[in-house]
Amino acid sequence: MQRRALVLPKGAALTGCSKGKREFSTSLRGQGDLNSMMEKKRILSGMRPTGRLHLGNLHGALENWIQLQQQYDCFFFVADWHALTTDYASPGDIHDNIWEMILDWLSAGLDPEQCTLFIQSEVKEHAELYLLLGMITPLPWLERNPTYKEQQQQIEQKDLGNYGFLGYPVLQAADIIMYKANGVPVGKDQLPHVELTREIARRFNFLYEREVFPVPDALLTEVPVLPGTDGRKMSKSYGNCLYITEPEEVIREKILKMMTDPARVRRHDPGTPELSPVFAYHKIYSSPEEVAEVAEGCRTAAIGCIDCKKILIKNVLARLQPIREKRLELEQNMTKVVQVLRDETDKARSVAVQTMAEVRDTIGLNVFR
Ligand code: SF4
Repeated sequence: MQRRALVLPKGAALTGCSKGKREFSTSLRGQGDLNSMMEKKRILSGMRPTGRLHLGNLHGALENWIQLQQQYDCFFFVADWHALTTDYASPGDIHDNIWEMILDWLSAGLDPEQCTLFIQSEVKEHAELYLLLGMITPLPWLERNPTYKEQQQQIEQKDLGNYGFLGYPVLQAADIIMYKANGVPVGKDQLPHVELTREIARRFNFLYEREVFPVPDALLTEVPVLPGTDGRKMSKSYGNCLYITEPEEVIREKILKMMTDPARVRRHDPGTPELSPVFAYHKIYSSPEEVAEVAEGCRTAAIGCIDCKKILIKNVLARLQPIREKRLELEQNMTKVVQVLRDETDKARSVAVQTMAEVRDTIGLNVFR
């Protein structure tokens, strides 16, 4: 994918505080509804900054977040420290990846009026809680983490034999319980992580004989899994992604080259739509009538793959159009985007500061108070 360098305003950094956030709101309701916010259960979730988001990210996590922000008091964060546990990214890369991802979040509909968006590394309290939880987390809890073993086998090209990678579930626990979250939206494969967070929260409360942290629940979420253009799992490392905001002609070209049911060698060969990644996209982007028409046409060879893909291209482009327009608008206003994130991160930090004061009091690390 071609990447354009993001031009941030001179001196832009995530410190300080000022106005400017409302201009990016896609809010469905006004501000000032603090009482109802207080009554809502709190949800926390984060995403590693890997740059521009692809359609798998959009339908797999982001759309879920966009819905959740209307029902819960949501905290969503850029997990930039987590990105460093598996990748020694160069400074320029991680910086650009953070802003690319934030722009996509805002373009797709995450709304700072409805949720709190922040950058993990800008709330240093996460590091302190991570350290303190590390003191009470038994090593075998981390060594038995299934992801620890799986990723060491899968990501062979990187050396994952570092302390940060072994300890990342403790950082994850710190991220979640810092905000006293009631729930964490996860897929089935991430359940062991939430369970570990629950165990760490319980252990802290037990050892210090004080219910400081609520034990968060997993909010099990079924989300559609979109295959990549070659039929494998959509992944940047496979080079088979369709990105949310890439140019129309690139999307068109990628869909036209997308893998189809291999049984459809010639135009008159019937196919099985369920074996074609193109059909998986139709189920998300096309109307029920079009999905039925394509399925029938594929099975009977009444429709050719090119015509089938043209219908998909039309629908994908129509759906992504408003996101792409929003993204262009935001790119023209990076000063304000930075300000919004600065304010949002300040908001998250004020919660973290309160939690850490309580934690230090509980442990007895408050000698000057
Ligand atoms: S007709 Fe459509 S669904 Fe069927 S194999 Fe071709 S591209 Fe795939």
